[in-house]
Amino acid sequence: MEKIKKTEEQWRAELTPEQYHVLREKGTERPFTGEYDHVFDPGTYHCAGCGAELFSSDAKYDSGCGWPAFSAPAGGDAVDEETDTSFGMVRTEVMCAACGGHLGHVFPDGPHPTGIRYCINSAALRLEEE
Ligand SMILES: [Zn+2]
Repeated sequence: MEKIKKTEEQWRAELTPEQYHVLREKGTERPFTGEYDHVFDPGTYHCAGCGAELFSSDAKYDSGCGWPAFSAPAGGDAVDEETDTSFGMVRTEVMCAACGGHLGHVFPDGPHPTGIRYCINSAALRLEEE
């Protein structure tokens, strides 16, 4: 897949400060504050940075962790995953495969058949309701 490349100035102009902080600076929104934490309307979650399809509402569940949680991405190549050792922890970072924007982290403690919890910042997502 061809990566979307923009300068930091372009991203800064297109995104809200919070979206920029999460997507481009690998920030994390405060728990229980995100727009989609407790939204379960049917639809598709797109990348707030580039519009790529990332998650389906079918995979979304309430993990109680304070951020939107998904059991699987919308497609096998929708997200990239990489080991993140910042803050003295070993975690797996989740990024939009299309633009490289930081979305959140993935943890192996999900309750669903996949056993996977994609813990994603609301600021990195845009829901298109069905
Ligand atoms: Zn993207």
